[in-house]
Amino acid sequence: SQKVSILGIPFVNTTETAFQNVLHEKIDQRINTFVVTANPEIVMYAKEHPAYQKLITSANYIVADGIGIVIGAKMLKTPIKERITGYDLFIHLLEWGNDNHKSAYFIGAKADVIRKLRKVVEKNYPDLQIAGTHDGYFGDDRNIVKDVRRTEPDMVFVATGYPKQEEFIDKNRIASNGLWMGIGGSFDVLTG
Ligand code: UDP
Repeated sequence: SQKVSILGIPFVNTTETAFQNVLHEKIDQRINTFVVTANPEIVMYAKEHPAYQKLITSANYIVADGIGIVIGAKMLKTPIKERITGYDLFIHLLEWGNDNHKSAYFIGAKADVIRKLRKVVEKNYPDLQIAGTHDGYFGDDRNIVKDVRRTEPDMVFVATGYPKQEEFIDKNRIASNGLWMGIGGSFDVLTG
């Protein structure tokens, strides 16, 4: 799909609907896919941390999560078609996953938030299978990754904030051929 480069970051340059359809196809085909939802903080952090920049540019897709990026792109005369937020993608994929009987693994946020998230997903998306959940405050990630490998979820949502979530995905995405996406504070928002 089309890309536009802003400050060295190649952003997806399609409409949100078109991008959703790209993801549906990847998930249906069980193609290992890493999506970075980059806000201006992430772009600035990447500028200052070359290793992180390298890591996120190795993702399959980077979407412009933040009106600042869309405005910046316009000023640089390389406009981006649409802002695509991690939170909106997350909610869309929960709905689509529910309609299509997919499975999802949720990693991130505080223990009480992830407990509440499980209840919210069970209630609002009853046909989405919860492969597993884990809070985002762990030292060793081996048991979590082992469980992801065992359950082979269609989607893995990692909400531990940047740069932790992208580093976790980059290191562990081999564990399951599905969608892996870092979504910041989205679990707090959905349960809040
Ligand atoms: N978080 C986590 N583990 C950590 C640090 C943070 O799971 O070690 C969670 C935190 O509880 C919150 C989210 O990550 O739910 C960070 O949200 P924020 O909006 O700050 O995301 P960012 O903008 O940093 O990506």
